[in-house]
Amino acid sequence: MSDLRELYQELIVDHHKNPRNFRKLEVSSHHAVGNNPICGDRITVHLLIKDDAVEDIAFEGTGCAICTASASVMTETVKGRHLWEVESLFDRFHDVVTGSPDEAPDTSGLGKLAAFAGVREFPMRVKCATLAWHTMHAAIEKKNEPVTTE
Ligand code: ZN
Repeated sequence: MSDLRELYQELIVDHHKNPRNFRKLEVSSHHAVGNNPICGDRITVHLLIKDDAVEDIAFEGTGCAICTASASVMTETVKGRHLWEVESLFDRFHDVVTGSPDEAPDTSGLGKLAAFAGVREFPMRVKCATLAWHTMHAAIEKKNEPVTTE
C-alpha cells in the first residue's frame, strides 16, 4: 500500500508541476468558473462539446497542488468521452474522495483518478479535489453563475 501511495503522490506532484490541457481553447462551446475560497483555488474550465461528447477540454487559473493536479487528470480522463460517461465518472470520483477514511475506496476502473482517494482522510482537501469536477459539471449544464464550494 505504501508503494501505491508513493506512486499516487508522484502522479499528483507531476500533474501539479506540468498540468495537462492547461490553456484556453481556441474554440469552445461551454465554460464555467469555479472558486474554492477556503483554499484560494480559482479555475476556469473550457469545453468543446459535440454530439454529446467532450471533443476538447482545457482549464486555466490558480490552485493548490491537489486542485491543479485534479483538474489536470480530469481533463485527460474525460477528453473524448460521452457526457453520460463523464457524469458517471464524476459520481464515482466524488464517492471515492468523500467516502469514510475507515473504508477502503472502490477505485476499480478509475485509472489515474484513484490517486486522489487519499484525500478522504483530509476533509479540507476534498473541495480542492472536486472543484474542477463541479466546475466542469456547471459548464456542461450551462449555468452561468460562478461556482463556489461554499
Ligand atoms: Zn486547494
